[in-house]
Amino acid sequence: MKKISMILLLSLICTLGFFSGKAEASSTGPASIVINDELIKFKDVKPFMSNNVTYVPIRLFSQALGVDVNWDQQKQIAILTKASRKLSLDLKQNMIMTESGGKQKVSLHLVNNQMVAPYRFIGEYFGYQVEYVQKGSFARITDKNAKLSNEQIYEKYKKELTKTIVKPGKVAYLTFDDGPNAHTERILNILKKYDAKATFFMLNDNMASHQTVVKEMVSEGHGVGCHGVTHDQQKFYRSPASAVGEMNTCLSTLAKITGQHSTVIRVPYGSKPYMTTNYRKAMDAKGYQMWDWNVDSLDWKLLNGPKTANYTINQIKAIQKSGTSPLILFHDKATTADALPAVLSYLKENGYELLPITNEIEAYNFWDRRKI
Ligand SMILES: [Zn+2]
Repeated sequence: MKKISMILLLSLICTLGFFSGKAEASSTGPASIVINDELIKFKDVKPFMSNNVTYVPIRLFSQALGVDVNWDQQKQIAILTKASRKLSLDLKQNMIMTESGGKQKVSLHLVNNQMVAPYRFIGEYFGYQVEYVQKGSFARITDKNAKLSNEQIYEKYKKELTKTIVKPGKVAYLTFDDGPNAHTERILNILKKYDAKATFFMLNDNMASHQTVVKEMVSEGHGVGCHGVTHDQQKFYRSPASAVGEMNTCLSTLAKITGQHSTVIRVPYGSKPYMTTNYRKAMDAKGYQMWDWNVDSLDWKLLNGPKTANYTINQIKAIQKSGTSPLILFHDKATTADALPAVLSYLKENGYELLPITNEIEAYNFWDRRKI
């Protein structure tokens, strides 16, 4: 994955010339954004970090840069323009396009109905210098109109800056296996009500017979990935080639239905113990990212909504203490749909953003239990 991230970064630099190449000074990003000599006052959605990238609500941010923002509701594309420069941010495709036709994949999200995007490239693309200032934890975005030094900015906004220093954004990932089926539509409706994005690891034949709901997942910004064809332990794990073959079939069905070339997978029954070295190498060779979970809702066993909700919330509290983001395993089931409102209320009340798993995120699995 490190290699893929590097390729991604290099292609960003090559195709778009976005990045100055300077990394953020630490794993904590800016809690505040100062454009020239003014601190931007973000309202309900504040800058937050995910995967070491800082996201900001683009409308307020762009306007502060003198960049016009037009939102095409039907296509779900934000168009940013200033003088001869233009960026199109395509929420459905997770893609940024420049006026000269350059394209790059990035993660874009809707949080409380506002599009959020990485702040750094937007600033740099529209001709600003971008730097991270450790003291006060703010990003300074400047052009020739900036008059104050970073120290003077710190003095000017000391009260607000110290007040706004926040922990990196809290993120939770909800995942649903084995669908889609008759319960998926209800799950999508509940997710929508809570402005939550989730990820669906689906089976080949279920997708083929529920194509409308698969398309709906994509148009609503959820993550989509594959769970195989047979879900049969004997068949799937017969050899590395059989495991990869099932994912190839499943991912190409997904691409045919949605036009999305997902590379995220979850193997049946989780990756331990069956996905031994040769199996993992075979998946790596195809560029597939294998995801497990760190919270098991036990919804396959607790055949009752409230019990599933209580158990899941207790598991989330436990994982929270360890400082890692909850990555929750659910299935497309009626009792899971019954449990969801309580789980989502808990997550929202505790400040979590519910984000989808996309190709750009480094996978978490039982062979690589890193913090996420
Ligand atoms: Zn399964």
